[in-house]
Amino acid sequence: MYIGFLEDDDFGKVLFYTRKGMRSVRMKWNKYQQLEVTMPRIPSIDEMKGILDLNRAEIKALRARVESREPAFYEGQIIPCCRYHLEISRKPKASQYYDFGFSPGRGCFFISVPQQCDIAGSAAGRALKACMKKLAHRHAAAIILPLAEDVAHEKGCTVRGFVMGRGLKKLGHCTRDRVISLSSTLMYYPEELVRYVICHELAHLKEMNHSAAFHAECNRLCGGREKELEQKLRSFPLLCC
Ligand SMILES: [Zn+2]
Repeated sequence: MYIGFLEDDDFGKVLFYTRKGMRSVRMKWNKYQQLEVTMPRIPSIDEMKGILDLNRAEIKALRARVESREPAFYEGQIIPCCRYHLEISRKPKASQYYDFGFSPGRGCFFISVPQQCDIAGSAAGRALKACMKKLAHRHAAAIILPLAEDVAHEKGCTVRGFVMGRGLKKLGHCTRDRVISLSSTLMYYPEELVRYVICHELAHLKEMNHSAAFHAECNRLCGGREKELEQKLRSFPLLCC
């Protein structure tokens, strides 16, 4: 259960959770680079601060390990997208701007970084992620919405409509009015996983909760692969967040 957050000078926004039956405190850096602390019972603010102070060195070491695993951006990188790919290149002439868009000639998305910048550095990393988000806001609808219509048609589901959302944590959402919203971030997932997210939302047309009946329907829609695809989705390394 989420109980709240603390702002910490070293770690930024730290999220606190409790879980019954836990014996000790658990800490992890999530994929949004936020520290999550899970405790056996609800702590006071002083206890929350105390946990961070006591484990400061260990938390920093944990972050270093997570960061070293994180794939950095580099020149010539090809980032797969749903049905397309994105190429990272360096500008041939001096410039301080990042350019991005779709190149009809090359049939792919591109981001050109300023000639003198350190692509693997954290400043370029932030700028590249921002470019990726803008690209998704502009182009995801043209890729994801027709795919969603196709999947709904294939599965014989009647939807009122599909719309693009901007959520990062929530990849999809189905309203009681049978409108399904899909995150523009899906553009950076493989088609197989995008189809899975669509099937999950289509299953909500029958079952609005996550009950056993819901999972049976979702599993049916994704050809008996719900568990496998959910696992793949959870471990997919999303570069734009
Ligand atoms: Zn759901």
